[in-house]
Amino acid sequence: MIPSVLPTYARAKLNFVEGEGSWLTADDGRRYLDLGAGIAVNALGHANPELVAALTAQANKLWHVSNLYEIAGQAELADKLVAASFADTVFFTNSGTESAELAIKMARKYHFDNGAPERIEIITFDGCFHGRSTGAIAASGAEKMVKGFGPLMPGFKHLPFGDHDALRAAVGEKTAAILIEPVQGEGGIRPVPDQCLKGLRDLCDAHGILLILDEVQCGMGRTGRLFAHEWAGITPDIVMSAKGIGGGFPLGAVLATEAAAKGMTLGTHGSTYGGNPLAMAVAGKVMDIVGAPGFLDAVSRQAGRLNQKLEGLIAAHPDVFESVRGVGLMTGLKLAPKVSAGDFVAAGYEAGVITVPAADNVVRLLPALNISDDDIDAGIARLDMAATAVKGAA
Ligand SMILES: *Cc1c(COP(=O)(O)O)cnc(C)c1O
Repeated sequence: MIPSVLPTYARAKLNFVEGEGSWLTADDGRRYLDLGAGIAVNALGHANPELVAALTAQANKLWHVSNLYEIAGQAELADKLVAASFADTVFFTNSGTESAELAIKMARKYHFDNGAPERIEIITFDGCFHGRSTGAIAASGAEKMVKGFGPLMPGFKHLPFGDHDALRAAVGEKTAAILIEPVQGEGGIRPVPDQCLKGLRDLCDAHGILLILDEVQCGMGRTGRLFAHEWAGITPDIVMSAKGIGGGFPLGAVLATEAAAKGMTLGTHGSTYGGNPLAMAVAGKVMDIVGAPGFLDAVSRQAGRLNQKLEGLIAAHPDVFESVRGVGLMTGLKLAPKVSAGDFVAAGYEAGVITVPAADNVVRLLPALNISDDDIDAGIARLDMAATAVKGAA
């Protein structure tokens, strides 16, 4: 009999009932050091007192009003995002996949309004992940996501990751945009080198096409900059956000330049919940904290500390780990071929540490951006236990 909850998830037998900072407590009272943060969502830790205060203060005033009316928190947060980024304008969604939908619509509308309605094609790359809507799975093209769900939305061209010749050959008269994660998340923490992001920008400029960056996982401070593309010094046309932007409250956003967004006029897009008062109260506080002087420097400092200790961990377990990669606190442990990511993550549960598997036999570490020194040390000790256990089992 089908379970009452549609069984689309492979869930671990863990039932967390409480969280505080980088720690989770399960229903049996056991505590876990959380290096997954809900897949880069709980960017400021669990039950962050400032976020709890912002949420409850708003909850006591007003939960929801329609976008038929003014929502002051939207302009406040959008102003902050615009001031802190490349963007001129922001649309609030509820999730990453909704941000993908708007980014796709915006890119097509841009060319339509520019007198080039034939420009409908968006170039994406192997290993990418942009969400689970029909548009986003078509963007990915990965068999495990699209099989059985056709016909897929046309207009995507899937290229190998890092193949410059294929890319140059793929750009043509129908190309509308290039869509890429500056650091692939689900694909196995694969950073796009700064030089390549610059090259993509140049290619887009040369052909009059838009550069869309999916920063749902790598954005909002995760890499030590507000947005990961800032490391490359480039200006995108459209950026998708979600996950960390809400600190655990469901929220997404699309940031864009005025030029890229100019076709999205009155009535061309909308959302019932996007940017509702509860989301704006929490996300406004997230932005204040992430944007405060010194916060992003502290992310880079903690990333340095974590990476240094991970190098030691790898050296101690060469038969379990191959390498560490990533940017800032978006970290991947590449496992040795005989250890599977699923087995390592399960050993982590036994050792009391939460990690997240990804493609390419990588285990992701996406801790809270404000993780303490002590919690990094606790995480390393537990990863060490997990590595020892996995080695024993192999
Ligand atoms: C998680 C993720 C998405 C999808 O976000 P949802 O909120 O699950 O729809 C899109 N892109 C990237 C890079 C992601 O990591």
